[in-house]
Amino acid sequence: MAQSQADAPSLSAYAAATADLNAWVEVDLEAMAANVAAIRSVLQPSTEVIAVIKANAYGHGAVPLARWLESQGVERLGVAWVSEAVALRAAGVQSPIIVMGHAFPGDAASCVSYDITCTIHSKHLADAFSAAAQAAGRKAMVHLKVDTGLHRFGNGDEEVVELAEYCRRLPGLRVEGIWTHMANADEEDDGFSVEQLERFRAVRERLDWIPYAHAANSATAFRRPALHFDGVRAGISLYGICPPNTPDPGLRPALSLKARLARVFELREGEGVSYGLTWRAPRDSVAGLVPVGYGDGWRRSLGNVGEVLVDGQRCPMVGRVCMDQFLVDLSALARRPQEGDEVVLLGQQGSEQITADSVAELCGTISWEVVAALLPRIPRVYRSGDTVVTLEGGSAG
Ligand SMILES: *Cc1c(COP(=O)(O)O)cnc(C)c1O
Repeated sequence: MAQSQADAPSLSAYAAATADLNAWVEVDLEAMAANVAAIRSVLQPSTEVIAVIKANAYGHGAVPLARWLESQGVERLGVAWVSEAVALRAAGVQSPIIVMGHAFPGDAASCVSYDITCTIHSKHLADAFSAAAQAAGRKAMVHLKVDTGLHRFGNGDEEVVELAEYCRRLPGLRVEGIWTHMANADEEDDGFSVEQLERFRAVRERLDWIPYAHAANSATAFRRPALHFDGVRAGISLYGICPPNTPDPGLRPALSLKARLARVFELREGEGVSYGLTWRAPRDSVAGLVPVGYGDGWRRSLGNVGEVLVDGQRCPMVGRVCMDQFLVDLSALARRPQEGDEVVLLGQQGSEQITADSVAELCGTISWEVVAALLPRIPRVYRSGDTVVTLEGGSAG
């Protein structure tokens, strides 16, 4: 794969697409395709991939990626909110969509008309979905969730069996799926998954008329084949990031966060930068202003500890991160960079790489939060090899 060498003639489309962007999230579709293949490589051919694209596809851009995933034959999509599913349908996405989070009775009509599969947690919600479906002359496809020990959404064993039988009798519903979610999927010791599996299996045996079961997130998919069932809900792995304590099937990070230096200037020894002047130049220095801040989801706690890549070298972030920009110390570079030069906050430049995991560690969080935090103000640019791909609904192109 070509690296981002702005002088390579084949990259002119890319250079043109990003020339006037202060910052952009670049999504490498070749890496995405490799990740889908890597996930499939651990699955039986009959097991579906449920691509989890909640939270704006973990910052990668939900609508364009949903379209792309659809074009790649990925079977289903998973989101957390009904509104996320509605936005995908409104944009023309046709794949089956499972809402894994909470729905209200007031969501029933739009879910029925948009053919969105919700997870039903109560008889009250089941009634609303059945009524809406009947009014529309259709059946509402629904899933049920078993709380096998995570104690987040779902219903306990007895409750879910009763709810399932209740839903089965409602004229407007078709109970297509039953699912659960692991608590310790990526913990060093994921032994609790075995207990959860036993509980889930026991419920499934009692509800053997429900055709579709799913239980695995990324870590579970790679660590516990017994939990694959009919589909795996792949989130972080789809984006090329391997969960902790999990064998890596050859994932490639798809997301880079890049920016262009907005200002390059000299600092005299002792002069400070950014609010509070928390960093002072230890000697005469060259500073660069990067037009990305916590208002874009770039964490404030990275101030004075994070690094970025300029000219293929690590440069320290200095001073506090502001809402819309932060500063870097460019003094160690052989060349004085210029306004407009590329800065890599996440991703590769030359032989150096900044991973979501390394940024997460500096912020005391996990890679999921680092990428999902990247807000929509930053345009998304989709790229396949050296070409910029225009994906409808993407903000660039
Ligand atoms: C977010 C989520 C997933 C995806 O998890 P990853 O670890 O990102 O693969 C799967 N299932 C549920 C219920 C989720 O909320």
